[in-house]
Amino acid sequence: MIPLLDVGATYEELREKIDRAVREVLESGWYIGGPPVERFEEQYARYCGASHCIGVGNGLEALALSLRALDIGPGDEVIVPSNTYIATWLAVSMVGAIPVPVEPDEATHCIDPAGISEAITELTRCIMPVHLYGHPCAMDEIISIARIHGLVVVEDAAQAHGAALGKRKIGSHGDAVAWSFYPTKNLGAFGDAGAVTTNRTDIAERLRLLRNYGSNAKNVHEVKGVNSRLDPIQAAILSAKLEYLDEWQQRRQRVANRYADLFAGSNRVIAPTTSTGVLPAWHLYVIRVDNRDFVSARLDQRGIASMPHYPTPPFLQQAYAEMKTEAGRWPLATRLADTVLSIPMGPHMKPGDIEQVAEAVLQAVEA
Ligand SMILES: *Cc1c(COP(=O)(O)O)cnc(C)c1O
Repeated sequence: MIPLLDVGATYEELREKIDRAVREVLESGWYIGGPPVERFEEQYARYCGASHCIGVGNGLEALALSLRALDIGPGDEVIVPSNTYIATWLAVSMVGAIPVPVEPDEATHCIDPAGISEAITELTRCIMPVHLYGHPCAMDEIISIARIHGLVVVEDAAQAHGAALGKRKIGSHGDAVAWSFYPTKNLGAFGDAGAVTTNRTDIAERLRLLRNYGSNAKNVHEVKGVNSRLDPIQAAILSAKLEYLDEWQQRRQRVANRYADLFAGSNRVIAPTTSTGVLPAWHLYVIRVDNRDFVSARLDQRGIASMPHYPTPPFLQQAYAEMKTEAGRWPLATRLADTVLSIPMGPHMKPGDIEQVAEAVLQAVEA
C-alpha cells in the first residue's frame, strides 16, 4: 500500500529526539505553558521571519482568534476563497462575521486578486487568503488591495509551513498568519496544536489575552477570552521537528519535480503549476483529471491511496445551506471540486513509489 502520507515515518526518523523531548516535559512536572511553549514560539517566529508567535490549541482557533484580535465580528464581511477547506469559513462564522467567497486563479488554486477587488463592499473588513496545498497566494497584490480599501489581512497558512514568496517565508505578510500543526500538516504535532505569527505587537498582545481567558495576570480578566493553549508536550515535539522542516520541504520538492517530469507528456492530467519566484510547501500534490472518481478507484485497486481535496465546496455543504441557491456564482470552485485529486506526497516517499503512482494515474486516465 502506498499511503497519501506516511505520517508515522517522521516519528521513525526522529524517534530518539522526540522521545527525549516528551520525557523532559513529563519529568518537569509543568504541564501547561512554560518553557517548551515559549521556546517553540520563539523558534517558530524566527523561522518564519515574524516578530511574534502565539501558540494556541489548533488551526481553527488560530484563525478565529486572529479575527477577534482584529475586532472582526457580527455584520462584518470577510473575503474567503470559494475553494478552501471549510475551516477557513467556519472561523469567520465563529466570530459572527459573514464569509464572502471569491473564486481562485485556475492555475494556482489560490484566491484571485482581481475577484477580491470586485467583492469588496462597504461591509468588508478583512481578506483571508489561504495558501492552498502549500502554494503561496499573491500577497503583494492582496496587501495593496487591502491598503487601498482599509482592510486587514488574515492568512490561513495551515498548509504552508516553510513556503516562501521570493526569499521571504510565509508568516508575516498579513496582519496575522494562522497555522495548524494538525498531525498531517507539513509541521505536525502528535495531537492538536496551532499558532499565530504576526509582526504587529498590538495583535500579539491581544492574542495572548484572548487565548488565556482574557487574562495576563492571575485573577485579572480584561476581555471575554477563551481557553486555547498550545500544549507543552506538543510544543516540545514541534521544536524537535522544526529543525528538519526545510530538509523535508526539499524532499517534497524533489517528489513534485519527479511527478512533473512523469506527467509532462500527458494532456489528460493537469499537474500543479508553480508561480515564478514562489517556493511551495507541497503540502499536497493535487492533479486534475476529468474522470476523477474512476481514477481514484483504479489507484485504490492497485494499493495506491488518493483523495480529493476537497470534494464539496463550503457553499454546497449543509452547514452553509443558506448559500446553496447562490452556488452558481462560484462555478470554478465547483468544477475544481469535481476534478481535483491528491496523490501520494511526502518527505518519506520512496523513489520507486513515485514512478508507480504516476504510471497508475496515466494508465487510469487513458482507460
Ligand atoms: C488543517 C486546516 C485548518 C484547520 O486546522 P485544525 O488544526 O485542524 O483546526 C484550517 N485551514 C486549512 C486550509 C487547513 O488545511
